[in-house]
Amino acid sequence: MLSTDSSRQYLENKRVELQKRIGGFCNGGSFVTTFESECVFAVLKDQLRQVENALARYKEGTYGLCQRCGKPIDPARLRVLPCATMCVRCKNHQENSKNQRSFAKGGQVQLVERK
Ligand SMILES: [Zn+2]
Repeated sequence: MLSTDSSRQYLENKRVELQKRIGGFCNGGSFVTTFESECVFAVLKDQLRQVENALARYKEGTYGLCQRCGKPIDPARLRVLPCATMCVRCKNHQENSKNQRSFAKGGQVQLVERK
């Protein structure tokens, strides 16, 4: 099995840190409403959501497994992206299908043939 305890510790620390920072935004007497601050706030909330998802997957025992194909995600990838929900293959596949209607990268595109 993967030794994911350090990732879990990292995620829990990260959650506390994000909650503090978000709390600071909400409760700070000087509530900032500039566009930039709103962007930072949105990013923090998004990060917190991802961290909480990852921790929920720990509870379910599915942490480190790809949500698409169910295979274990490369531990090296998890070290860099502790909130990763998909393995590199599936992630690439997803990106490719997103780009399917734009330019073909590398030439090997499997589009449905229209006759
Ligand atoms: Zn996968």
